[in-house]
Amino acid sequence: MKAKTVLISGASIAGPSLAFWLHRYGFQTTIVEKAPALRPGGYAVDFRGVGMEVLKRMGILEEVRKYETRTGKITMVNKNNKKVASMPDGFTSGELEINRGDLSLVLYEATKDNTTYIFDDSITGLKQVADGVEVQFSRNPSRKFDLVIGADGLHSGVRAIAFGDESKFVHNLGVYLAIYTIPNYLKLNMDALFYGSLGKKVGVFGARQRKEAKASFYFTSDPIAFERKDVGQQKQIIREKFAAESWEVPKLLEMMDEAPDFYFDTLAQVKMDTWSTGRVALLGDAAHCASPMAGMGTTMAVVGAYILAGELYEANGDFLPAYARYESAMRTFVDKCQKLADGIDWFIPTTRIKLWWSQQIWKILPYTPWKNIMIEMPAKIAGSISLNNYAACA
Ligand SMILES: Cc1cc2nc3c(=O)[nH]c(=O)nc-3n(C[C@H](O)[C@H](O)[C@H](O)COP(=O)(O)OP(=O)(O)OC[C@H]3O[C@@H](n4cnc5c(N)ncnc54)[C@H](O)[C@@H]3O)c2cc1C
Repeated sequence: MKAKTVLISGASIAGPSLAFWLHRYGFQTTIVEKAPALRPGGYAVDFRGVGMEVLKRMGILEEVRKYETRTGKITMVNKNNKKVASMPDGFTSGELEINRGDLSLVLYEATKDNTTYIFDDSITGLKQVADGVEVQFSRNPSRKFDLVIGADGLHSGVRAIAFGDESKFVHNLGVYLAIYTIPNYLKLNMDALFYGSLGKKVGVFGARQRKEAKASFYFTSDPIAFERKDVGQQKQIIREKFAAESWEVPKLLEMMDEAPDFYFDTLAQVKMDTWSTGRVALLGDAAHCASPMAGMGTTMAVVGAYILAGELYEANGDFLPAYARYESAMRTFVDKCQKLADGIDWFIPTTRIKLWWSQQIWKILPYTPWKNIMIEMPAKIAGSISLNNYAACA
């Protein structure tokens, strides 16, 4: 086999999924993760179509099901908590919904015996030489690997080192999102409540078998400069943006400081002409983040991992043709998934007329032939890519 040792950056969804398949095909895999340990909890992600098929082929579908969350009914309310519109169960849950951290744990358990995990470290330098990549780490000594894969998310470190600054590839969708865990004080039965005003949306939904809830805040804005590590600054941005809002907002803001977790970022998509350069390739959000609005990121991550590993295996480790085939197999699928975020303006309208229209649309949608559009459209796209039966897993 030409390439044997593979270093993967990122231990969330794409990274461990790739390690799973590469190990099965006889590669030696190492994962470096910048967090000091697996990141637990987090927000709900979901699987559809071909994503479910990959979980089945990995033999972990039943294990993943044990953590299923499935958001119930979604109700849009006004500031007096009066129902404006409601959507049925499963409207946004895909075929199988799970918290990102729980999914990451299942993938870690499925790979930890055969993959070397290095936590609390990250890649600081990559030098491609004739027979491999010399990798510098911020804490561990330098080492040489045959291949390096960046599966380190929207703000990928590998992408920055190998392809250049993220400003070339990360396209801001003009919306910021914060999400954190709160007690389920509204007694939500896995249901979701959404309240919206001009350019803003606040959602609360039951989580973890109703034991807790998640508060989420969306707002449209021109680019804001913020420090990714400065959670205090990010919380202050949310406090200021939503200070004048009513409904449950003041109470949710009060709970923000007690939250065990806090996620804040811009909604963005990654668009690149190519996902590889020499021996280095990108996978998952690092290559083609579609944003949470598209709801296909986890499916793309596991499907991409399946294809990349399969092509490396079929090419006997000959990475150039394998990377080319991985990319051509994924491109059209990724483009379709990214397009799903195009309706963002209807979720968070920025003009009064659009706000009014969007409310009317949500109101009548359940009584129209398009009532299942949010379920059927992603499902159709998730079924639009077929999986090869790579020899070893057939
Ligand atoms: C609020 C929200 C809701 C979402 N909802 C859905 C949904 O309903 N359905 C869906 O399909 N998708 C959803 N997504 C998208 C989904 O979470 C991502 O597409 C998916 O997690 C991508 O997996 P990944 O492994 O490529 O990247 P990530 O999950 O982003 O993981 C990247 C990993 O790399 C690590 N890392 C980062 N930088 C470095 C570095 N320099 N060195 C080492 N490690 C590093 C990170 O700590 C992390 O562990 C949602 C996303 C968000 C934010």
